Amino acid sequence: MFRSRSGVRGLSQEAPIAEALRQFGRDRAWVNEKHLELCRVGAPTFFEEKRALWMVTELTALGYVAKLDRAGNVVAFLPEDERGPWVAVTAHLDTVLAPRTGDDIRLGPDGRFLGPGVADNGAGLAGLLAIARQHALRGLRDQKLGLILVANVGEEGEGNLSWMRYLCRQSALAEQIEAFLVLDGPGVEHLTTQALGSRRFEVVFSGPGGHSWSDAGNPNAVHAMAKTIADFLDCHGRRAGFLHTRYGRSTANFSLIDGGTSINSIPGVPGRNWICGVRVLRCWMSWRSC
Ligand SMILES: [Zn+2]
Repeated sequence: MFRSRSGVRGLSQEAPIAEALRQFGRDRAWVNEKHLELCRVGAPTFFEEKRALWMVTELTALGYVAKLDRAGNVVAFLPEDERGPWVAVTAHLDTVLAPRTGDDIRLGPDGRFLGPGVADNGAGLAGLLAIARQHALRGLRDQKLGLILVANVGEEGEGNLSWMRYLCRQSALAEQIEAFLVLDGPGVEHLTTQALGSRRFEVVFSGPGGHSWSDAGNPNAVHAMAKTIADFLDCHGRRAGFLHTRYGRSTANFSLIDGGTSINSIPGVPGRNWICGVRVLRCWMSWRSC
């Protein structure tokens, strides 16, 4: 790993890093162009393959050995770095929302990029390409760790970070990666330097009630879910914004509810509402803590 005794400021003055920083400025138009281009290749979670192949083409053109691993993650390294150990610079490929057409991704009148996924994680992927283009960083060849670039799939929503978990645990590369730097979104205000846990839970409620007259008094999955969410947030200090638990500072967010078919019918989730004769409703909760 590249080490400097004088911290980030000192590191930025080391010759290869200083040259790379100047090069970022010179590459700005190229990076912006690639940023818009990649965002036009839609990559909603579980459907990232087109964007993954686009990244493989770009990284190959920059001189990297780039390929998809078994999970569909893009993995790239310079030919001389084939063996590791590595520091991995990663950015997730998938987005919560995808453009319907390329025209949804555009430049605003004030020069800002507009459209689904331009920030999270178009910015991270553009950063990955910008780093890949930094030939100056190759001056760090004598360092202990090589560089491996990863554009991972399955991060958002129901992807639940699953293929980053694969990279860290099951992949043949896992043991050779000694450090991670993750590029996510456009923020440059801070670096998160300690592990931030992220767990997502699918919570399923079921109950026989649903018709406003004939089922009156029977347990209703919607009522139970609403009460559970309200009680949970009240119990954990909703007004503070952050939950302070024995694990440290945490946040909880209920972000997706599905189920239900009409005002006077028993709630159900399409495809799941009649499993074993049980009517169900589900919600997703995201829990983060550090
Ligand atoms: Zn993200």
